Amino acid sequence: ETTSPFLQQPCVNVSYFTEDDFLPFDKIASGGFANVFKAKHKLWRLDLAVKCSHLLREESFSFERNMSHLAEETARMVKIRFKYILPIYGICTKPAGIVMEYMQNGSLDKLLVRYTITWLMKFRIIHEMAMGMNFLHSMNPPLLHLDLKPGNILVDENLHIKIADFGLSKWEDDLSSKQHVERSVVRGTINYMPPELLNGPSGVKHDVYSFSIVLWEILTQQKSYAGTNTMAVFVKVVAGARPCLKLIPENSPQECAQMVDLMKRCWDQELDRRPAFSEIVMETEMLFGLLQFPDIQISNSTKIPKLTPPSSSISVQNGTIITEIANSELQRLNLLAKTGSSDELS
Ligand code: ATP
Repeated sequence: ETTSPFLQQPCVNVSYFTEDDFLPFDKIASGGFANVFKAKHKLWRLDLAVKCSHLLREESFSFERNMSHLAEETARMVKIRFKYILPIYGICTKPAGIVMEYMQNGSLDKLLVRYTITWLMKFRIIHEMAMGMNFLHSMNPPLLHLDLKPGNILVDENLHIKIADFGLSKWEDDLSSKQHVERSVVRGTINYMPPELLNGPSGVKHDVYSFSIVLWEILTQQKSYAGTNTMAVFVKVVAGARPCLKLIPENSPQECAQMVDLMKRCWDQELDRRPAFSEIVMETEMLFGLLQFPDIQISNSTKIPKLTPPSSSISVQNGTIITEIANSELQRLNLLAKTGSSDELS
């Protein structure tokens, strides 16, 4: 049990760190909203990531309020443990920031531009993302992400993903819908915002829409609406426009047509027609399984009852076939084809 200067109650499970707990910080990203550092814990000998939001600068106008807000959020987030959700370790009080697992291969947006990714790998990333989101939405009450985008999908040394930055959207509670749109334009995240954003508070179908745009970007390895002015994007999306389907590569496997069909349902203008993650994850599991084991015949009547199998094991439970594949075997399947001048992945 630890006490925090920013929490009224002592908080179980939240660790508090200061710079002295780490070897010198190594800045890995710096943007308009936060700096992210890689920091090796002196005692644990483990690399961690520390994200210091500019809102947490001591000179910031609402530092005290933001810090106690962060402490409350972190207390909730450290309890969330799931294979495809980025673990939060606690809070760094000096410099002020959030301490989380370090992911060796950074974020998905960079992976998508640096490498040509095989279809099997694309389907695996999509399925792992669906599993992570399904877990958050199956909490009681559902935990909404509201900022799902490739920059918030982090990639580990084995090219498995974890969803980051969930739960932080509460910071924006006091923004009106219009301010939310404006802020998304400024932050460059408007592409992932659903058309109903202007109509009032968001629900689970907000994340389903964002998922569909990320899905398009994974399938095409392109940025959605490239070349279109950001505010114009939202106006067009509200009028029913979506990313161009012609940009999906023609060399795609036949399962891609079903993935595209799922994507289109997820970006439906009508919220009720967008599937829930509990349904999405069933479909992505099946499609990833089909690509992984093309020789396995799955009859239409086959039900795949498990919601969250480990990604390294696909069970097609029609009473006859249960197949497992080891992680190392997946690696062997040449998941990434490196392009010309790209960086090496370990
Ligand atoms: P925001 O989510 O605040 O709008 P952002 O999407 O650019 O901003 P940040 O969370 O600020 O993302 O992170 C910036 C970059 O830092 C990421 O794109 C990623 O490359 C790197 N990064 C963030 N968290 C980690 C982590 N836990 N491990 C490794 N790299 C990370």
